[in-house]
Amino acid sequence: IEASSKEVWTLEKVKQTLPRREQHSHKGSHGKGLIIGGTKTMPGAARLTANAALRSGAGLLTVATSQEALPVVASGVTEATFLDLDDEQIDLLAEIKSFDAIAIGMGMGRSDQTQLIVDTVLTSEKPVVVDADGLFYLKNRLSELKNRKAPTILTPHPGEMAMLIDQSIEQIKNNPFEIAKSFAVKHQLYLVLKGAYTIVTAPNGYQTINQTGNPALAKGGSGDCLAGIILAQVMQKGTIEASLANACYIHGLAADLAVEKDHSMIDFLATDLINFLPKAFRTCL
Ligand code: AMP
Ligand code: MG
Repeated sequence: IEASSKEVWTLEKVKQTLPRREQHSHKGSHGKGLIIGGTKTMPGAARLTANAALRSGAGLLTVATSQEALPVVASGVTEATFLDLDDEQIDLLAEIKSFDAIAIGMGMGRSDQTQLIVDTVLTSEKPVVVDADGLFYLKNRLSELKNRKAPTILTPHPGEMAMLIDQSIEQIKNNPFEIAKSFAVKHQLYLVLKGAYTIVTAPNGYQTINQTGNPALAKGGSGDCLAGIILAQVMQKGTIEASLANACYIHGLAADLAVEKDHSMIDFLATDLINFLPKAFRTCL
């Protein structure tokens, strides 16, 4: 892929690149994902990410969350297994080795424990998706990211991007492509800069623009769903670039299909997005 190119990601592109399930595939063929997030006061974020990942093709899924959040998260995610982050018997670094990809930060809260967990996850040689509170702690490790041996994927909204680069949201909105590109190239990471249009930038500077989605998504929980779709897609066969662009397309498409007749932009919730993933995937196959 040519480093300076930029393209709008279309339905045609999604249809060309979305990995299909093979006749003889088994759950192991579709990735074992780990979600680290959710806390006492934000259990819903982890539930949304988990259910979105399960609806987006993950073969196996584990959610690691705080002891207090665990029962609440588990009661809303039937198909996953769970890890108690406050259990001192658990060696997270050892646990991480058995997963194919990790998403961290959604509703995780800010504490020294979060920094420690982010640091541990970044030492792994697995693809890592960092969102929300995870981004706050990742900022302290930015200069080390280019040494990671597996893809690092950041999913900031403009406010989080502003925090990461010490610029204003206004500055980012005025020049999103250039800012995204210089950041992704400098730190050798994949950047999903979210917004009404989402820009995905690869470490080589290649950019795709997503145009699906609508203001129904301007609500708490939308981004948590995207993190789950991304986690599931990066574990399938296909390039990281296509996995990220497809995840953004399907996330927005689910919201577009929802407001076509069943929902309005006012009532639509992140939970509804997950319920429209089946229609979105069927549109893309
Ligand atoms: P977050 O702020 O982390 O919850 O992420 C919000 C998600 O919803 C991102 O994926 C955005 O791209 C999407 N989103 C928010 N507002 C809009 C909008 N007005 N049009 C399209 N997508 C949106
Ligand atoms: Mg968010």
